[in-house]
Amino acid sequence: QEDSSVAPQRHRITMKGLNPPQEAVTFEEMKERYSMPAQLYANLAKNDYIHPTGIQSSGIPALLESRDVAAISPTGTGKTLSYLLPIFTKLGSPSSSQQAQENGSGKGVRAIVIAPTRELAHQIHNECLKLAQGRKWRIVLFSKATASTLSDKSIRDKVDIIISTPLRLVSSIQEGSLELENVRHLVLDEADRLLDSEFLEQIQEITAACTHPNLQKAMFSATLPAGVEKTAMGMLQDPIRLVVGLKDT
Ligand code: ADP
Ligand code: MG
Repeated sequence: QEDSSVAPQRHRITMKGLNPPQEAVTFEEMKERYSMPAQLYANLAKNDYIHPTGIQSSGIPALLESRDVAAISPTGTGKTLSYLLPIFTKLGSPSSSQQAQENGSGKGVRAIVIAPTRELAHQIHNECLKLAQGRKWRIVLFSKATASTLSDKSIRDKVDIIISTPLRLVSSIQEGSLELENVRHLVLDEADRLLDSEFLEQIQEITAACTHPNLQKAMFSATLPAGVEKTAMGMLQDPIRLVVGLKDT
């Protein structure tokens, strides 16, 4: 078991890939560099996110620079915020908001986070709600019940982020009750498990349904065994590969 305390300074970070972005050692630096909305920035301190962890210092800039990312960092090092903060920053404002309607940023779900278990999806949803405070983001923890609510397209069009297990998403895609062509951010959390044989086919089906040309893909996990790493890298474009601590093979 990994130590669950957040102590980035104890970890060594390696970053590989073409033109790797510069790390940001504070959240303020991220805010300035990437024009993070003020409300979102305020939600960090409000939820006791004071100093970014190692994976956050390097992963957040990479994602905000629109790079595909494969990130490996031990359990408890804050991988969830590493991908959620860029998603909220990039989405800018909720689909249902006037700004979004006016700038025509498109309808329908724009970000998907996939996790191998319901329990994990639930935890990710909770982290999402912290960042969503103060704005009318529609964040859906996908289940049979919520999926059926979304059978109404006018409701579906206002959803910003979906968090789901693979099978749940695949069912909705197959039913034709969920369009993913406007998805700009696809995250695989605990990617080592999602790319393993049990889930791989489902992940491939979901990925194929995300047809937006500017789709950004990110994978986060505590380990990435060699066999799975090859599959992962094959799915990413010019990825930035981040490893915090020792790679577990
Ligand atoms: P991982 O996915 O790497 O296992 P989590 O994203 O679940 O880690 O984060 C572990 C815990 O650390 C959570 O309770 C989260 O709220 C907290 N956390 C994450 N980032 C920070 C931070 N920068 N400062 C303080 N706490 C943080
Ligand atoms: Mg995690």
